[in-house]
Amino acid sequence: MNTIERFNKNVMGTYGRYDLVLESGENRTAVSEDGKEYIDFGSGIGTNSLGFCDSDWVEAVCNQVKSIQHTSNYYYTKVQADFANKLCDSTGYCKMFFGNSGAEANECAIKLARKYSFDKYGKDAERNIIITLVNSFHGRTMTTLSATGQDVFHNYFFPFTEGFVNVEANNTDDLRAKLDEYDGKVCAVMFEFVQGEGGVIPLTQEFVDAIFDECEKRDILTIADEVQTGIGRTGKLLASQHYGKMPDVTTLAKGLAGGVPIGACLANEKCCDVLSKGTHGSTFGGNPIACAGGNVVIDKVTADGFLDEVMKKSEYLKTKLSELSEVEGVDGLGLMLGVRLKTKSAADVCKACLDNGLLALTAKTKLRFLPPLTITFDEIDKGLDILRKVLE
Ligand SMILES: *Cc1c(COP(=O)(O)O)cnc(C)c1O
Repeated sequence: MNTIERFNKNVMGTYGRYDLVLESGENRTAVSEDGKEYIDFGSGIGTNSLGFCDSDWVEAVCNQVKSIQHTSNYYYTKVQADFANKLCDSTGYCKMFFGNSGAEANECAIKLARKYSFDKYGKDAERNIIITLVNSFHGRTMTTLSATGQDVFHNYFFPFTEGFVNVEANNTDDLRAKLDEYDGKVCAVMFEFVQGEGGVIPLTQEFVDAIFDECEKRDILTIADEVQTGIGRTGKLLASQHYGKMPDVTTLAKGLAGGVPIGACLANEKCCDVLSKGTHGSTFGGNPIACAGGNVVIDKVTADGFLDEVMKKSEYLKTKLSELSEVEGVDGLGLMLGVRLKTKSAADVCKACLDNGLLALTAKTKLRFLPPLTITFDEIDKGLDILRKVLE
């Protein structure tokens, strides 16, 4: 039996996978078991932010493995303190919670928001509704599935967690109507600044302004799910900075530690002490190996000029994509781009790219590109050459 057959024999078939076995990677190139090379425009769904096996990242992670790999959260480690300090200093948040995934970071945010209202308004107020957006994606656990505003995810697993109400993205009338309908019962509004899995759809400034104005007036927490958009992906450290906002809570995961599992829930002064001793936890949360990787990612992404380069590459890639005759338009921010095609199916194009040596993604009907933040102009050109050939 080959690798794919052995894999499928014992792994649940929850994913539609391509027939490709990846064996190694270096910077922005992956190598398959049969020795073929692939330019990476997907970074493992936005996780390998520094590319494959960045040398500084490898050194930090390996050194950590050799010194101490895990301690439990009964003890302290320096590498965790370094990470938390760096993350809070660079983002302006006052405290964070360590998890291992996007869903776990969002679970933390949801618990925090409900407890914030519980502590302040009491149990009888039942101020526990969280407004999320139609077409959002917040994760695969029972509660983050409930939070996800897409009906396709609300099947089979009944009963789902109660207390989520959906508002149409970029519809301020709908937002105000729902806030009025559930007046006094809403504890948070949770949203992605750029809906990722939903099709790379940025929120409008007007809608974001309305969320923040209404939440301020009504003492409702704002929760930004920056699991995909965070840590440089959109050309700013946080996507919220494009909108001039500082949400009460921001969740991070995917690109945060350069490809090892991590999740973080950041909170501002207003709510950073809500989750008190014993109210939340995670055995692996803040794993030192993940933190060591995360320290390198934060150092590099916040270094002088790094994000300016990301923006330049973004502009270049957008311009070149727009010149292709099959391309109807390009949506997104920074290196999180969704390409609308005129006639071809994104899934077919994505598969054809793979066959020709380019790792790409799709989001709904769009072709989606999340290249490593360290990709070079030369590598962008190589990827575009493959795409051009596929679209001909
Ligand atoms: C990927 C993603 C999640 C889920 O992250 P996991 O690490 O798979 O749990 C949540 N929210 C957004 C916006 C995402 O893109």
